Amino acid sequence: MKKILTLMVCAMLFLTSSFGFAFARDVYVTKKGKKYHVEDCRWIQKRETIKMSEEEAVKKGYKPCGCVKKADQDGAEKME
Ligand SMILES: [Zn+2]
Repeated sequence: MKKILTLMVCAMLFLTSSFGFAFARDVYVTKKGKKYHVEDCRWIQKRETIKMSEEEAVKKGYKPCGCVKKADQDGAEKME
C-alpha cells in the first residue's frame, strides 16, 4: 500500500514539474503590489511595472491577479 502511495506522489511531482513550461511567460508586477499581471491587464496600464518571468514572480511570493487566470482561460477557450 505504501508503494502505491509513493508512486502516486512521484507521479504528482512529475506532473507538477511538467507544468513548469506554463511559467515561461513574462509577467508584470507593480512596485507596491503583491500580485503579478499579464501585459494587457487594465490594472497596470497606468502604473510603473517591473517585468519578470512568471516563475520568478511566484518565487518572490507574488500571487496571480484575476487577469492571469482570465488569460489562462482565454488560452484554453476563447471567450467573447
Ligand atoms: Zn492584473
